[in-house]
Amino acid sequence: MSGILYMVVPCYNEEPVLEETTRRLREKYAKLINEGKISPKSKVVYVNDGSKDKTWDIITKIHNEDKMFRGICLSRNRGHQNAVLAGLMTAKEDADMVISMDADLQDDIDAIDEMIDQYDNGFDIVYGVRNKRTTDSFFKRFTAQTYYKMLLKLGVDIVYNHADFRLMSKRALNEMENFKEVNLFLRGIVPMVGFPSTYVYYERHERFAGESKYPLKKMLHFAFDGVTSLSIKPIRFITSLGLIIFVLSLAMLVYTIVVHFTGGSQLGWSSIMTSVWALGGLQLFSIGIIGEYIGKIYLETKARPRFIIQEYLKDEDK
Ligand code: UDP
Ligand code: MG
Repeated sequence: MSGILYMVVPCYNEEPVLEETTRRLREKYAKLINEGKISPKSKVVYVNDGSKDKTWDIITKIHNEDKMFRGICLSRNRGHQNAVLAGLMTAKEDADMVISMDADLQDDIDAIDEMIDQYDNGFDIVYGVRNKRTTDSFFKRFTAQTYYKMLLKLGVDIVYNHADFRLMSKRALNEMENFKEVNLFLRGIVPMVGFPSTYVYYERHERFAGESKYPLKKMLHFAFDGVTSLSIKPIRFITSLGLIIFVLSLAMLVYTIVVHFTGGSQLGWSSIMTSVWALGGLQLFSIGIIGEYIGKIYLETKARPRFIIQEYLKDEDK
Protein backbone atom coordinates (compact mmCIF):
# COMPACT_ATOMS: atom_id res chain seq x y z
CA MET A 1 0.00 0.00 0.00
CA SER A 2 3.09 2.16 0.48
CA GLY A 3 1.92 4.45 3.29
CA ILE A 4 4.18 7.10 4.76
CA LEU A 5 6.17 5.59 7.62
CA TYR A 6 7.81 7.68 10.34
CA MET A 7 10.11 6.09 12.89
CA VAL A 8 10.51 7.79 16.26
CA VAL A 9 13.79 7.09 18.03
CA PRO A 10 14.40 8.60 21.49
CA CYS A 11 18.06 9.33 22.19
CA TYR A 12 19.65 10.13 25.51
CA ASN A 13 23.44 10.17 25.41
CA GLU A 14 23.48 7.78 22.47
CA GLU A 15 26.68 9.09 20.85
CA PRO A 16 28.23 5.61 20.42
CA VAL A 17 25.28 4.03 18.61
CA LEU A 18 23.71 6.72 16.45
CA GLU A 19 25.86 6.29 13.34
CA GLU A 20 25.26 2.55 13.28
CA THR A 21 21.53 2.93 13.90
CA THR A 22 21.38 5.44 11.05
CA ARG A 23 23.25 3.11 8.71
CA ARG A 24 20.92 0.22 9.43
CA LEU A 25 17.77 2.32 9.19
CA ARG A 26 18.91 3.82 5.89
CA GLU A 27 19.45 0.33 4.50
CA LYS A 28 16.05 -0.83 5.74
CA TYR A 29 14.26 2.21 4.32
CA ALA A 30 15.95 1.80 0.94
CA LYS A 31 14.75 -1.79 0.81
CA LEU A 32 11.21 -0.99 1.94
CA ILE A 33 10.86 1.89 -0.52
CA ASN A 34 12.28 -0.29 -3.27
CA GLU A 35 9.75 -3.02 -2.58
CA GLY A 36 6.97 -0.42 -2.63
CA LYS A 37 6.04 -1.16 0.97
CA ILE A 38 6.43 2.40 2.16
CA SER A 39 6.28 5.79 0.50
CA PRO A 40 9.54 7.57 -0.49
CA LYS A 41 8.29 10.41 1.74
CA SER A 42 8.96 8.25 4.82
CA LYS A 43 11.27 9.64 7.51
CA VAL A 44 13.15 8.82 10.68
CA VAL A 45 12.77 11.24 13.60
CA TYR A 46 15.47 11.27 16.27
CA VAL A 47 14.34 12.83 19.52
CA ASN A 48 17.20 14.22 21.54
CA ASP A 49 16.09 13.99 25.17
CA GLY A 50 18.42 16.61 26.64
CA SER A 51 21.58 14.58 26.07
CA LYS A 52 24.76 15.75 27.74
CA ASP A 53 27.10 14.39 25.08
CA LYS A 54 27.34 15.14 21.35
CA THR A 55 24.10 13.34 20.43
CA TRP A 56 22.42 16.49 19.07
CA ASP A 57 25.48 17.47 17.00
CA ILE A 58 25.46 14.01 15.45
CA ILE A 59 21.73 14.20 14.72
CA THR A 60 22.22 17.63 13.09
CA LYS A 61 25.04 16.26 10.97
CA ILE A 62 23.01 13.22 9.90
CA HIS A 63 20.08 15.51 8.99
CA ASN A 64 22.30 17.78 6.94
CA GLU A 65 23.66 14.86 4.98
CA ASP A 66 20.38 13.05 4.45
CA LYS A 67 16.99 14.73 4.70
CA MET A 68 15.32 11.41 5.35
CA PHE A 69 16.47 11.90 8.93
CA ARG A 70 14.83 14.56 11.04
CA GLY A 71 15.69 15.73 14.53
CA ILE A 72 13.70 17.03 17.45
CA CYS A 73 15.60 18.62 20.30
CA LEU A 74 13.74 18.74 23.60
CA SER A 75 14.47 21.69 25.85
CA ARG A 76 15.79 19.34 28.56
CA ASN A 77 15.83 15.71 29.68
CA ARG A 78 12.27 14.53 30.26
CA GLY A 79 12.72 10.76 30.27
CA HIS A 80 12.13 8.05 27.73
CA GLN A 81 8.31 8.07 27.79
CA ASN A 82 7.99 11.79 27.23
CA ALA A 83 10.64 11.75 24.53
CA VAL A 84 8.72 9.03 22.68
CA LEU A 85 5.48 10.98 23.12
CA ALA A 86 7.06 14.18 21.76
CA GLY A 87 8.22 12.23 18.72
CA LEU A 88 4.90 10.46 18.15
CA MET A 89 2.85 13.63 18.42
CA THR A 90 5.11 15.51 16.04
CA ALA A 91 5.49 12.67 13.55
CA LYS A 92 1.78 11.83 13.29
CA GLU A 93 1.12 15.13 11.54
CA ASP A 94 2.95 13.98 8.41
CA ALA A 95 2.75 10.19 8.67
CA ASP A 96 0.23 7.43 8.00
CA MET A 97 1.90 5.14 10.53
CA VAL A 98 4.56 5.69 13.17
CA ILE A 99 6.91 3.14 14.73
CA SER A 100 8.72 3.89 17.98
CA MET A 101 12.01 2.14 18.56
CA ASP A 102 14.96 2.49 20.96
CA ALA A 103 18.17 3.95 19.62
CA ASP A 104 20.41 1.18 20.92
CA LEU A 105 19.39 -1.47 18.34
CA GLN A 106 17.99 -3.78 21.00
CA ASP A 107 14.73 -3.80 19.06
CA ASP A 108 15.00 -5.85 15.90
CA ILE A 109 14.89 -3.62 12.82
CA ASP A 110 13.86 -6.62 10.72
CA ALA A 111 10.56 -6.86 12.61
CA ILE A 112 9.51 -3.61 10.91
CA ASP A 113 8.62 -5.41 7.65
CA GLU A 114 6.07 -7.55 9.40
CA MET A 115 4.68 -4.58 11.35
CA ILE A 116 4.03 -2.77 8.07
CA ASP A 117 2.41 -5.90 6.59
CA GLN A 118 0.06 -6.02 9.57
CA TYR A 119 -0.73 -2.32 9.15
CA ASP A 120 -1.59 -3.04 5.51
CA ASN A 121 -3.80 -5.88 6.75
CA GLY A 122 -5.86 -3.28 8.59
CA PHE A 123 -4.35 -3.23 12.08
CA ASP A 124 -4.00 0.14 13.79
CA ILE A 125 -1.62 -0.98 16.52
CA VAL A 126 1.10 -3.59 16.11
CA TYR A 127 2.95 -4.49 19.31
CA GLY A 128 6.50 -5.75 19.12
CA VAL A 129 6.74 -8.61 21.59
CA ARG A 130 9.94 -10.28 22.75
CA ASN A 131 9.75 -14.01 22.24
CA LYS A 132 12.88 -14.69 24.25
CA ARG A 133 14.68 -12.80 26.91
CA THR A 134 17.97 -14.60 26.62
CA THR A 135 19.98 -11.39 26.25
CA ASP A 136 18.70 -10.03 29.57
CA SER A 137 20.29 -11.02 32.85
CA PHE A 138 18.38 -13.50 35.00
CA PHE A 139 17.61 -10.73 37.45
CA LYS A 140 16.14 -8.39 34.83
CA ARG A 141 14.16 -11.21 33.26
CA PHE A 142 12.74 -12.36 36.55
CA THR A 143 11.84 -8.91 37.86
CA ALA A 144 10.32 -7.82 34.55
CA GLN A 145 8.15 -10.90 34.22
CA THR A 146 6.97 -10.78 37.82
CA TYR A 147 6.13 -7.15 37.24
CA TYR A 148 4.02 -7.85 34.14
CA LYS A 149 2.14 -10.55 35.99
CA MET A 150 1.51 -8.24 38.93
CA LEU A 151 0.19 -5.48 36.65
CA LEU A 152 -2.18 -7.95 35.01
CA LYS A 153 -3.44 -8.98 38.45
CA LEU A 154 -3.99 -5.35 39.34
CA GLY A 155 -6.31 -5.07 36.39
CA VAL A 156 -3.96 -3.16 34.10
CA ASP A 157 -4.38 -4.13 30.48
CA ILE A 158 -0.80 -4.47 29.38
CA VAL A 159 0.85 -6.52 26.65
CA TYR A 160 3.13 -9.17 28.13
CA ASN A 161 6.81 -8.76 27.21
CA HIS A 162 6.21 -5.68 25.11
CA ALA A 163 8.39 -2.61 25.59
CA ASP A 164 7.94 0.50 23.50
CA PHE A 165 8.64 -1.01 20.10
CA ARG A 166 5.33 -0.66 18.28
CA LEU A 167 3.56 0.63 15.23
CA MET A 168 0.58 2.96 15.54
CA SER A 169 -1.64 4.33 12.82
CA LYS A 170 -2.40 8.01 12.47
CA ARG A 171 -5.93 7.59 13.78
CA ALA A 172 -4.75 5.64 16.86
CA LEU A 173 -2.22 8.40 17.58
CA ASN A 174 -4.86 11.09 17.15
CA GLU A 175 -6.95 9.33 19.78
CA MET A 176 -3.97 8.85 22.06
CA GLU A 177 -3.43 12.60 22.03
CA ASN A 178 -6.62 12.91 24.09
CA PHE A 179 -5.03 11.06 27.01
CA LYS A 180 -3.71 14.12 28.74
CA GLU A 181 -2.04 12.58 31.77
CA VAL A 182 1.26 14.03 32.87
CA ASN A 183 2.37 10.77 34.52
CA LEU A 184 2.81 8.94 31.32
CA PHE A 185 3.10 5.18 31.03
CA LEU A 186 2.66 4.54 27.31
CA ARG A 187 2.52 0.77 27.62
CA GLY A 188 -0.60 1.08 29.72
CA ILE A 189 -2.22 3.85 27.67
CA VAL A 190 -1.91 2.33 24.20
CA PRO A 191 -4.16 -0.70 24.90
CA MET A 192 -6.78 1.74 26.24
CA VAL A 193 -6.90 3.45 22.86
CA GLY A 194 -8.28 0.23 21.38
CA PHE A 195 -8.70 -0.27 17.60
CA PRO A 196 -7.70 -3.52 15.86
CA SER A 197 -4.38 -4.60 17.33
CA THR A 198 -1.97 -7.44 16.81
CA TYR A 199 1.51 -8.67 17.72
CA VAL A 200 4.78 -9.24 15.96
CA TYR A 201 7.37 -11.40 17.69
CA TYR A 202 11.05 -10.56 17.68
CA GLU A 203 14.22 -11.42 19.47
CA ARG A 204 15.71 -8.73 21.65
CA HIS A 205 19.40 -8.12 21.05
CA GLU A 206 22.14 -6.85 23.29
CA ARG A 207 22.63 -3.11 23.40
CA PHE A 208 24.86 -2.26 20.41
CA ALA A 209 27.12 0.09 22.39
CA GLY A 210 27.01 2.41 25.38
CA GLU A 211 25.24 1.74 28.66
CA SER A 212 21.66 1.24 29.73
CA LYS A 213 20.07 4.53 30.77
CA TYR A 214 17.86 2.59 33.16
CA PRO A 215 19.81 1.69 36.26
CA LEU A 216 18.02 -0.26 38.99
CA LYS A 217 16.84 2.85 40.81
CA LYS A 218 15.23 4.36 37.71
CA MET A 219 13.76 0.98 36.82
CA LEU A 220 12.09 0.63 40.22
CA HIS A 221 10.77 4.15 39.96
CA PHE A 222 9.35 3.43 36.52
CA ALA A 223 7.77 0.20 37.73
CA PHE A 224 6.12 1.89 40.70
CA ASP A 225 4.93 4.72 38.48
CA GLY A 226 3.32 2.21 36.18
CA VAL A 227 1.24 0.75 38.98
CA THR A 228 0.09 4.02 40.50
CA SER A 229 -0.65 5.61 37.12
CA LEU A 230 -2.86 2.81 35.93
CA SER A 231 -4.48 1.09 38.87
CA ILE A 232 -6.25 2.17 42.04
CA LYS A 233 -6.36 -1.36 43.39
CA PRO A 234 -3.62 -0.67 45.97
CA ILE A 235 -5.98 1.86 47.61
CA ARG A 236 -8.79 -0.69 47.65
CA PHE A 237 -6.38 -3.20 49.12
CA ILE A 238 -5.63 -0.82 51.96
CA THR A 239 -9.32 -0.31 52.62
CA SER A 240 -9.92 -4.05 52.86
CA LEU A 241 -6.84 -4.45 55.02
CA GLY A 242 -8.09 -1.73 57.37
CA LEU A 243 -11.44 -3.44 57.58
CA ILE A 244 -9.94 -6.83 58.37
CA ILE A 245 -7.75 -5.37 61.08
CA PHE A 246 -10.73 -3.55 62.57
CA VAL A 247 -12.69 -6.81 62.76
CA LEU A 248 -9.68 -8.51 64.33
CA SER A 249 -9.42 -5.74 66.92
CA LEU A 250 -13.07 -6.27 67.88
CA ALA A 251 -12.29 -9.92 68.50
CA MET A 252 -9.29 -8.81 70.52
CA LEU A 253 -11.55 -6.54 72.57
CA VAL A 254 -13.88 -9.40 73.39
CA TYR A 255 -10.90 -11.52 74.35
CA THR A 256 -9.46 -8.90 76.71
CA ILE A 257 -12.81 -8.39 78.39
CA VAL A 258 -13.21 -12.13 78.90
CA VAL A 259 -9.71 -12.42 80.35
CA HIS A 260 -10.33 -9.43 82.60
CA PHE A 261 -13.45 -10.90 84.19
CA THR A 262 -12.39 -14.52 84.40
CA GLY A 263 -8.75 -14.86 85.29
CA GLY A 264 -7.80 -11.27 85.94
CA SER A 265 -4.44 -12.15 84.54
CA GLN A 266 -1.99 -9.45 83.55
CA LEU A 267 -2.10 -8.78 79.87
CA GLY A 268 1.33 -9.06 78.36
CA TRP A 269 3.50 -6.12 77.63
CA SER A 270 4.76 -7.89 74.54
CA SER A 271 1.38 -8.11 72.83
CA ILE A 272 0.87 -4.37 73.29
CA MET A 273 4.31 -3.59 71.97
CA THR A 274 3.75 -5.84 68.99
CA SER A 275 0.44 -4.33 68.04
CA VAL A 276 1.71 -0.77 68.49
CA TRP A 277 4.55 -1.45 66.13
CA ALA A 278 2.57 -3.47 63.65
CA LEU A 279 -0.24 -0.94 63.44
CA GLY A 280 2.17 1.98 63.36
CA GLY A 281 4.00 0.44 60.46
CA LEU A 282 0.84 -0.46 58.65
CA GLN A 283 -0.53 3.05 59.01
CA LEU A 284 2.61 4.68 57.76
CA PHE A 285 2.71 2.32 54.82
CA SER A 286 -0.92 3.06 53.99
CA ILE A 287 -0.49 6.79 54.28
CA GLY A 288 2.54 6.47 52.05
CA ILE A 289 0.60 4.74 49.31
CA ILE A 290 -2.28 7.18 49.51
CA GLY A 291 0.25 10.00 49.47
CA GLU A 292 1.64 8.59 46.26
CA TYR A 293 -1.73 9.04 44.59
CA ILE A 294 -2.19 12.49 46.05
CA GLY A 295 1.21 13.36 44.65
CA LYS A 296 -0.03 12.29 41.25
CA ILE A 297 -3.19 14.36 41.58
CA TYR A 298 -0.99 17.30 42.51
CA LEU A 299 1.05 16.88 39.36
CA GLU A 300 -1.99 16.27 37.16
CA THR A 301 -3.84 19.37 38.37
CA LYS A 302 -0.87 21.50 37.45
CA ALA A 303 -1.11 20.12 33.91
CA ARG A 304 2.39 21.17 33.03
CA PRO A 305 3.53 20.51 29.47
CA ARG A 306 4.86 17.00 29.03
CA PHE A 307 7.61 18.07 26.69
CA ILE A 308 8.92 21.26 25.17
CA ILE A 309 10.43 21.21 21.72
CA GLN A 310 13.34 23.56 21.36
CA GLU A 311 14.16 22.80 17.75
CA TYR A 312 12.72 20.70 14.94
CA LEU A 313 15.01 19.89 12.04
CA LYS A 314 12.95 19.10 8.99
CA ASP A 315 13.61 19.48 5.31
CA GLU A 316 10.57 21.58 4.31
CA ASP A 317 12.02 24.57 6.15
CA LYS A 318 14.95 24.85 3.85
N1 UDP B 1 16.15 7.35 26.80
C1 UDP B 1 15.64 8.65 26.71
N2 UDP B 1 15.63 9.42 27.84
C2 UDP B 1 16.06 8.98 29.05
C3 UDP B 1 16.55 7.63 29.13
C4 UDP B 1 16.57 6.86 27.99
O1 UDP B 1 15.22 9.09 25.64
O2 UDP B 1 16.02 9.73 30.02
C5 UDP B 1 16.17 6.51 25.57
C6 UDP B 1 17.50 5.86 25.26
O3 UDP B 1 18.32 6.71 24.49
C7 UDP B 1 17.08 4.60 24.47
C8 UDP B 1 15.75 4.26 25.09
O4 UDP B 1 15.30 5.43 25.77
O5 UDP B 1 16.88 4.89 23.09
C9 UDP B 1 15.83 3.09 26.05
O6 UDP B 1 16.85 3.30 27.00
P1 UDP B 1 17.89 2.16 27.42
O7 UDP B 1 18.29 1.38 26.21
O8 UDP B 1 18.98 2.80 28.17
O9 UDP B 1 16.99 1.27 28.39
P2 UDP B 1 17.03 -0.33 28.54
O10 UDP B 1 16.92 -0.91 27.14
O11 UDP B 1 18.31 -0.66 29.19
O12 UDP B 1 15.84 -0.65 29.38
MG1 MG C 1 18.09 -0.49 25.64
